[in-house]
Order: sequence, then C-alpha cells, then structure tokens
Amino acid sequence: MRPFAVNEITEMVTGLHQLARNLWWTWDQDAQDLFSQLSPRSWRNLYHNPVAVLHEVSEYELRVRLHNRLLADQVRRVLRKWRAYMNDRDTWGAKHAPELLDRPVAYFSAEFGFHETLPISAGGLGVLAGDHMKSASDLGLGMVGLSLFYREGYFIQTVNEENWQVEHYAHLNPRNLPLEPVLDGNGEPVVCSLDIGMTEVFFRAWRINVGRVPVYLLDTDIEPNEQRMRDLTLRVYGGDSTTRIMQEMLLGIGGVRLLRALGVQPSVFHMNEGHSAFLTLELAREKFAAGMPWEQALEEGRKECVFTTHTPVPAGHDRFNKDLVGYAFSQYVRQLGTDVEGLMRLGRVKPEDHNETFCMTVLALRQSRAANAVSELHGRVSREMWHCLYPDRPVEEVPIGHITNGVHLLGWMKGTVRRFWRRELCGPLNHNGSANGGEADATNGPLLADANEILPSGLARWEAELVKPEFWQRIEDPEFVKDEELWALRYRLRRELIEFTRRRLLIQGERISRKAFIEYDHLLNVDALTIGFARRFATYKRAALIFDQFDNIVRLVKDRNQPVQFIFAGKAHPRDDEGKRLIQKIIHLSKYSDLRGHLVFIEDYDIHVARMMVSGCDVWLNNPRRPLEASGTSGMKCGPHGCLNLSILDGWWREGYDGTNGFAIGEDSHPDNIQEQDRIDSANLYRVLSEQVIPLFYNRDEAGIPRQWIRMMRRAMATLVPRFTTDRMVREYVERYYLPRS
Ligand SMILES: *Cc1c(COP(=O)(O)O)cnc(C)c1O
Repeated sequence: MRPFAVNEITEMVTGLHQLARNLWWTWDQDAQDLFSQLSPRSWRNLYHNPVAVLHEVSEYELRVRLHNRLLADQVRRVLRKWRAYMNDRDTWGAKHAPELLDRPVAYFSAEFGFHETLPISAGGLGVLAGDHMKSASDLGLGMVGLSLFYREGYFIQTVNEENWQVEHYAHLNPRNLPLEPVLDGNGEPVVCSLDIGMTEVFFRAWRINVGRVPVYLLDTDIEPNEQRMRDLTLRVYGGDSTTRIMQEMLLGIGGVRLLRALGVQPSVFHMNEGHSAFLTLELAREKFAAGMPWEQALEEGRKECVFTTHTPVPAGHDRFNKDLVGYAFSQYVRQLGTDVEGLMRLGRVKPEDHNETFCMTVLALRQSRAANAVSELHGRVSREMWHCLYPDRPVEEVPIGHITNGVHLLGWMKGTVRRFWRRELCGPLNHNGSANGGEADATNGPLLADANEILPSGLARWEAELVKPEFWQRIEDPEFVKDEELWALRYRLRRELIEFTRRRLLIQGERISRKAFIEYDHLLNVDALTIGFARRFATYKRAALIFDQFDNIVRLVKDRNQPVQFIFAGKAHPRDDEGKRLIQKIIHLSKYSDLRGHLVFIEDYDIHVARMMVSGCDVWLNNPRRPLEASGTSGMKCGPHGCLNLSILDGWWREGYDGTNGFAIGEDSHPDNIQEQDRIDSANLYRVLSEQVIPLFYNRDEAGIPRQWIRMMRRAMATLVPRFTTDRMVREYVERYYLPRS
C-alpha cells in the first residue's frame, strides 16, 4: 500500500483540473469514468462536462475523497496515462514527418465538432475536422487548428405543436468549457485586428487542447469593437451573406495573423472547405508588403496551401457578389497589389466575366498547390465540376485527387464496447486496473498478457489492440469471440439506445403537452430490428424516402413475428424550410399514422445522440441522391458497434461495400433524372429491406442466434473498421499533401 502525502493530493487535484481542459479525455474511457464518478448526476445533467463537474465538486470535497484509495488509484492511473501520452516522443509523426514538428500544418475550418458540450459545429464537416485533430494528436503530428469561437454555437433544436423546428440559442460560457484564453507574456489577452469594410475589427482567441494539438478559436466579442462586430462570431453560419463574408475574412485573414502573433510559422495551410480561402490573400499580402511583386506573391503563397473540397452541392460553395466584396474589402484591398476587380478575377471561373460572382472554392482551387475530394467518386465528380477552371486539360487531369474520409476510432467507440473488449482481453474486470488484470482464466476466451500495463503511447496494452487493423481482422474468427457474446453485446447496445430514446421522448412530449401521447416506458421494442437515420436534413439526403413506400412499410412494422422500428434525428438549417417540412412529415407520421409506436424522432441531434444511435441501431440507413453525398461519415461510426450499413452506393460506402459486410441499395450507377432516381431508389430500398435485411436478422437457429447476421457483423468489423479511420486518412494527407514532394 502506498502512503499518502498531502502534496500528492494537491498534485492530483491540479492534475484533474488540467486534464478537464484537455479533450484527450473525450477518447479515454478511464478518464470519462473518473469524472462521471465524481458527480454522476452532474456528469449526466451537465452533458458530460468535466470542467463543469469540477465546478460542482468543491476542492475540499475532492481532497477528502482522494483519501479513498480506490478513487486515488484511478486518478493516478488516468494521470499517468495522460502524461505518458503527452510526453511520448516515439510517434508516427516523429518518424515520418519530423519537419512538421517545428513548422506545423495550420488546419483552418469554419467548424469543429469535438464533443457534445462544445456545439461549434453544424454537422459532418465539423465532426470530420475534430476527428482530424484527434488523429493528428495520436499520430504525434505538428498541427494547429484555427476556427471561430461562436458564443451561441449552433442552434438547439426543439419542435413545436405544429411539429415545426424551432431554433434556440444558449450562451456558451468559456469558464464552463475546456477553453483557455490566449495570453501574452504579461498575462493579457493577445489581441490582433484586421480591416473589415471600413472598420478595424479587433479579436482575441481561445485555445482548446486536443491532446497534443492546439486549436485556436477567434473571438470578436471584445472592446472596443462596436456591437455589430462583437456579434460577428455569435453563431455558426449565422446571419446573411454579409455576416458570412465577414466571418470568412476573420477566419482566413485573422487566423494567419493570430499564428504570426503567436510565433507559429506553419509549413502548410490546409483549408478544410472554401470558407477559409481568404487566408491565401493574407499570405500574398505579407509577401507583397515585404517587397515581392503581387503576382509573384500570389504564386509563392500558393505553394504553401492545400485545399479539401467537401461537396458537389451548389449551396455548399459560398458565392459573393461584387458589391459585397467591394464593401467588405474596401480597406483591406488597399494593402494588396490589386483592386476589387482584380480580387473578383481570383474568384471567378472566367476572370473576365463580369456577371460571375466571387466563389470561395474557385479562390481556394486557384491558390493551392494541391486539392482533394473526400472519396473516389467525389473526386471524379469534382474533376468534372471544376474542369471549367482547367479548360486546356482533359478531365482526368484536373488536379483534384481524393482522400476518403474516416472517423476517430477511439473517440467514437462507445464505453459499452470498450468495456466489452477490455473484459475479453483482460479477463475478469479489476477496477483499479492493475493486480490480477492479466491472470489467466481459461473460461474467458483469449487473454492478453499484462493487458492493463500502460504503454509509452499512453494507451493500456488492451486499448492499443483496438487501434490495430489485425485486431479487427481477427474478429472474423468465431473462436476469437463467440456469436453468443456478440449477440449479447448487440442487445445491450440496443437496450441502451431504447432507454435513452424513451427518456428523450418523455422530455420532448412533456414540453408540448402534459397529456402524454404515448406511454413512454413501453415505447419501442427492445427485440425489434432497429433502423436508424440521423443527419442534417439537407434535401439531397432524402430523409423521408423510405416512406414513399408507405403501405409496404406499415405492413413490415406491423408484422408481430418480425417487428421493425425506426429512429430518426437531425437538424435542418434555420433557413431551410424544405428541410423543416421533411422533419414535420416524419414527426407527423410518428404521431398520427399507422407507424405510431414504431417510428420516433429524437430532437436536437448532436454528437451524443449520434453516438447513441450508431451504436444502438442494428441498421444504419443512408439514402442520398447519388452522387451528392461526397463521403458521409456517420456510417463509419457503426462498424465497431456491430451496426450494419444499408446505403446507396455513394461516397465512402461505394468503396467499403464488398457484398458481405452490409447492404447496398441499387447499383454503382444512377439515372440523371431526379424523379426517376427517387422512384428507383425507394423501390430498391424497400426490396433490400424486405428481401434481405429483415429475413437475415430474423433467421435464428435453435439457440435463438442469427448466425448469418452475426457473420455479416464480423465481416463489417474486419473490413471496414481498420480502413475508414482518421488515422489512415491523416497519414494519407501527410504523405500525399503535407510533405513537400521531392
Ligand atoms: C458523424 C456526424 C455527422 C455526419 O454524418 P453524415 O453521414 O456524413 O451525414 C453529422 N452530424 C453529427 C452530429 C455526426 O456525429
């Protein structure tokens, strides 16, 4: 037994406060378990927020409770893991990209999705950016992130009596979030400025620690800005196109200025979408100010930039008219070696065409040394889409490659699944994570020697298994893990989702009416095949497609022997009435049609709801209008949980699907006519569901186990999980885009 020293308790208290301000805990289960134990109720009510939990638990209480050896051992272990992680120098990045350690990649994104307590993301683009940072940290890469601090974040969604989406905004309090003010040597906030319109706008910054990677969020809500400029960073994609161009100036130009103020000299500027493309002007301005001719300054700046395009949907490409550009750049343009017309030319496909507006994607493509799309098909579509910029080349030679997206595996893996594998790999659970953790127990399947040992990487040995491709490939072997155990895991995950859904629907229902429509405790069926659909309600994602076959679907859900149920979630952009109408339609069906009781809509989709759904559902439905889903990532989060994809062959699924690891809707092709496509796809969707998915799920042997379904789960784990990770994706960015090519 270790004796206690009072100063060790002080160290632990300090360590916990530091740890709460490093998002490393968002992908470490031990750390999350620890914070939740400190105050289980606050952990849940404050939406899994360690900073807020530590405000709840007084320092006195913490000190008293750290005299409990069990808790103290857990704290020591978590802090040891974290310090090992932070100090590990033997990383992939140190080996393969040491030059980035001194001169990092600066990754610019208008949104980042890190965790449900930090709602500064509108959807998939932000979540991808967040996962990119987490993997960069795991790989030990030199990387810094840049974005804006949206004081009201993205909206909170509720639905009113008319089943119409209503947007609410809550003020984020930096004190309750894992944010640190960026200060200078005197402890004063670092303040920079830029000219927007005729006004000098000042901004400060907040730092988020994502493991080893710092992410800086710019914030204009300071003196002496007038109120209009203080509100510039209020909301994610808030306001009109004037707000939009101003936010984008702040992100691109301000972001470069902040890095310079901090003494960071990036070797590469990575634009995640076109929103940050004004950074290319700032790079050229710096060189021009130092005496370089303007055209050469543009050309030299270009060599430092890479660009990722994320969508073929036209609304996803910001365009600004000349009046607006002239207004927003009226002051700034005087520092450039060009005028407003010269600026416009940089953002037009045909520079001379005065009818053309300024397109951020065009600027980004022109001013970067390399560009990529986010899946193979999206690469092809993007080359066709932007062929107009390179008219003297054949379409195959348009310089847009592709790197298929991924997800941060440990960050998305639900605690239930991690505990499952820990049990499989370590043998009987030992809560302090040491002592008998590696003892052999013949009845408990394969064991790993010294499974709980903390490796230099900061992972326990058993956790390090989970990030190896070989581990997932071994799951194909029924000896490695039994069907019965995987099926038990699926039941556990489905139950967790259904109980979560009941709780959320109770809260939703109570808000609208005290007379409950539904008996919440009996809502949904834990035995039923559960199909999930959750994403932004952009029209091309066709949320209601499955209900085109309404009578057929009713027949399916009403089959008592083979029940099926649907869980939907998702937000429509505040100005997208068509998206809101789709939400209304689905909620209406869930309350007043024959689907009642078999279809529910969970309000306020976010990262937490996403994690509950991709883990608890049996089938993840994705039916975009091909080829508009550039990649899609939510389906990649299903793999480690044994949830199977049922998807159009678009984006990543076209590359992931092999005939044995999930379900495809239709072929690897599509008709040009949209009505025709919708009709064919909904018929195919119904056919696959009724002829393949449902029979396979309900085909049980004498022991009640759906052997073939589980076989498919194993195939999905073995073939999809190792491939569609941000670890793989970020390594590809390093090798193909970040490092100078010799
Ligand atoms: C993963 C994720 C997305 C992206 O989903 P797509 O399938 O790419 O549409 C969007 N929102 C949240 C909250 C997510 O977690």
